[in-house]
Amino acid sequence: MMRLLMFAALLVTVHCKELFKGHQVLQIIPKNDAQLAFLKDLEDVLEFELDFWKGVTAVSCPVHVRAPFQFLQLLKRILKRKDISYVPMIDDLQAVLDEEQKEIELFARSLKPKNTDSFNYSRYHKLSEIYSFQDMLVAENPNLVSKIVIGQSYEARPLSVLKFSTGGTNRRAIWIDTGIHAREWITQASGIWFAKKIVKDYGSDPALTDILNNMDIFLETVTNPDGYDYTQNSNRMWRKTRKPNPGSSCVGVDPNRNWDSGFGEPGASSNPCSETYRGPSAHSESEVKAIVDFVVAHKNIKAFVTIHSYSQMLLYPFGYTSAPSKDEAELHSLAQKAITDLASLYGTRYTYGSIIDTIYQASGNTVDWTYEQGIKYSYTFELRDTGFHGFLLPAKQIVPTAEETWLALMAIMSHTFKNPY
Ligand SMILES: [Zn+2]
Repeated sequence: MMRLLMFAALLVTVHCKELFKGHQVLQIIPKNDAQLAFLKDLEDVLEFELDFWKGVTAVSCPVHVRAPFQFLQLLKRILKRKDISYVPMIDDLQAVLDEEQKEIELFARSLKPKNTDSFNYSRYHKLSEIYSFQDMLVAENPNLVSKIVIGQSYEARPLSVLKFSTGGTNRRAIWIDTGIHAREWITQASGIWFAKKIVKDYGSDPALTDILNNMDIFLETVTNPDGYDYTQNSNRMWRKTRKPNPGSSCVGVDPNRNWDSGFGEPGASSNPCSETYRGPSAHSESEVKAIVDFVVAHKNIKAFVTIHSYSQMLLYPFGYTSAPSKDEAELHSLAQKAITDLASLYGTRYTYGSIIDTIYQASGNTVDWTYEQGIKYSYTFELRDTGFHGFLLPAKQIVPTAEETWLALMAIMSHTFKNPY
């Protein structure tokens, strides 16, 4: 009997998908300092289960928040009472998710691609499909691409990195990662497209060929595989890792607040239930620690690019302090060049600057740590869009987003190549 019950419980866990019926995403714009302060306080009220897609920054800057059905009316009443204006951005979140899931399921039933040419880059893919894409790319290009496993996730998935290299030992290198935040699906999807683009352009694009004849590129596409799998099968809105927190019923750590740079300072939460929970200690998450160990062992990484969504921003250190970095002028002008190149394709406009000046204070973030390790060209991208779809960017925007982002990446990689340090 006990066994039967356990089996039934397992079935329920496997098939139980979190629903977002009646959830709305609101855009709220604080008009003055009092409203701003009120919204900042609201960010810390975890009882309302509000999910800040775009956090509170400054007067007149939009805030995006997902409110669950049971607290939605209360939130609206509070905002009205405070004379804070809001508009629904996504009226019925579950309807959007159903549509997205329908496309994925439909596609999953179609024929599996035999090679990376027939792989569909205009779709969001399951984790197993991404893994098989990586293996096909390696098999098709044994002299250019290899797969290295840099560690294991909490749920024992391999943390695999594609290495693009034309030979040599200990060459200068560029690191790119996507998907450290699970729900930012446009980033993992763009990472897949970048991998194919590198293979296609080597030998035909002179700038990339030059780079790869002298440097290596490391690309980690699914940096938080447990989280990604969880967004696919259980909760589309999951952001953090999946490691349980002892003493709390809330799971996971924000892997972009877990790095040993300003760790524990303002700009991260000490509450395990917060979306920006920093974790019990710096590098407590194996997904973070694997990159830390890799970077420490590869002294020749000269550019480090970590890719998030959304907001259309290109950011450089610091996030934990308002003190400018010593390379700020160069990082700023390179960011300007990169976003100008990006905009040249489809006119997508990015803002840019240091993390703390452009979004908000964020301690323990990736690029503050990599910069302090001596990687001068450390950048964080926030890809499309600015909130109309938010984390639920339609699949038809994957390729255009990846294409324009590639131009910015090329600007950063070329500059790194031409400016050895
Ligand atoms: Zn993110």
